[in-house]
Amino acid sequence: MSEKFDVIVIGSGPAGYVGAIKCAQLGLKTACVEMEGADTPSLGGTCLNVGCIPSKALLESSHKFYETQKDLIKHGINTGEVTMDVPAMMGRKDNIVKGLTDGVAMLFKANGVTSIHGRGKLLAGKKVQVTAANGDVTEYEAENVILAAGSQSVEIPPAPLTEGFIVDSTGALAFEATPKRLGVIGAGVIGLELGSVWNYLGSEVVILEAQDRFLPMADQRMAKEANKLMSRQGLDIRLGARVMGTEVKGGEVVVSYQDAAGDQELVVDKLIVAVGRSPSTDGLVAPDTGVTLDERGSISVNDFCETDAPGVYAVGDIVRGPMLAHKGSEEGIMVAERICGHKAQVNFDCIPSVIYTHPELAWVGKTEEEVKATGEPYKVGQFPFAAIGRALAAGTPDGFVRVIADEATDRILGVHIIGPQASELIAQAVIALEFGSSSEDLALTVFAHPSYSEAIHEAALAVDGQAIHMANKRKKKK
Ligand code: NAD
Repeated sequence: MSEKFDVIVIGSGPAGYVGAIKCAQLGLKTACVEMEGADTPSLGGTCLNVGCIPSKALLESSHKFYETQKDLIKHGINTGEVTMDVPAMMGRKDNIVKGLTDGVAMLFKANGVTSIHGRGKLLAGKKVQVTAANGDVTEYEAENVILAAGSQSVEIPPAPLTEGFIVDSTGALAFEATPKRLGVIGAGVIGLELGSVWNYLGSEVVILEAQDRFLPMADQRMAKEANKLMSRQGLDIRLGARVMGTEVKGGEVVVSYQDAAGDQELVVDKLIVAVGRSPSTDGLVAPDTGVTLDERGSISVNDFCETDAPGVYAVGDIVRGPMLAHKGSEEGIMVAERICGHKAQVNFDCIPSVIYTHPELAWVGKTEEEVKATGEPYKVGQFPFAAIGRALAAGTPDGFVRVIADEATDRILGVHIIGPQASELIAQAVIALEFGSSSEDLALTVFAHPSYSEAIHEAALAVDGQAIHMANKRKKKK
């Protein structure tokens, strides 16, 4: 007879492994199936292995190289010639990844999660078939199944991946040397983060973006500022540039694209394709399980991540909503709780987004464009880091904080930060939104001086024309 579990999770990314640990913590007999890895499963999914973590390791290294060359002299530090050892940087990144993926394996052991190595497939009747790398097939049974198979890079016909020349985000995390000329298709989160890494290391980077608007999902004042600062840093961002074809010849990549002026050509040494990710559903679910897909090819779920098949859930990149690790993890925890009969839910209106460039962009809640579209009156407070002592002392005066609040109730609707440590600062705004705070709540809170957080305080004060360290455009109502 096949082994039976209370819960089998397919996929060990941030949605799957967090859900599996939570299930085990709640006393459920839990297994997690993962296909990646040579002898043992490589846990952690895209995020730990080829996504968030390795890209942040490279961003950190490359920015240190850039700072050492360009900024340390301003502090009176003379370094002499600075050189970059790309293999050493990659080795450091690989060690960080290994430490974290091994860490997930340790957590599985500590919590009693059974780790199963192979490709998982949901069959009818909540059975899970696992095919090992050597072709061996084992069947398991479960009371509940959580599908958490993640997403994969989208490939486009004009730019087929070509070893050593045209790569996806995974390939761009493993270049052996800094390319002199680098092209990137797509000015989304991945294109900007990876473009920044190689630009800091000395590549001339051209980013081709089909849309006319830069970062259309972000608050457009913030997006405009980001475009200005990234261009100043050296990224050549070409909007309205649709890639039509590529050709690898003579050790170069020739990219043909169209923009408002007509047909254009770009010649680079390497090309990164970063045009989005699609849910990994191929071969994941047998046709007779009752699980269905939505119009975007994601697994159909409700707000509680229940699929159309009772006892089968889906979480993370494989379902609707932003493809963000923290969103997937919270869905995993919610599903574990709900399997146990608890009334957990995820507040989808309160999920922070971050772009890890320098400066960072981070936001939560509605953009000004979204608020405007509701037709409800609103007010905005904006405060620049250039008026924050700590930012000036650190030499990071670029960017601002914007707080958008409802005109009548003063409830905070959105917070948008471009500037130093925005990824950390945004947590304060997430907490404020989660607690339904007004801008006055933030304005009445004491913030440490000197700190970057004061920009949030001042932006909240500015909502009603009360900022102290700048001239207020909006005047306080008497
Ligand atoms: P994306 O959808 O954010 O951006 C892709 C861009 O490519 C779009 O702007 C699109 O207009 C453009 N594009 C598509 N086809 C094109 C063509 N032929 N020519 C020129 N431009 C073209 O996708 P992504 O950056 O690949 O990221 C994928 C997912 O991963 C996103 O959901 C993202 O949120 C997530 N992610 C998040 C983080 C983070 O949170 N920091 C980091 C990496 C990835």
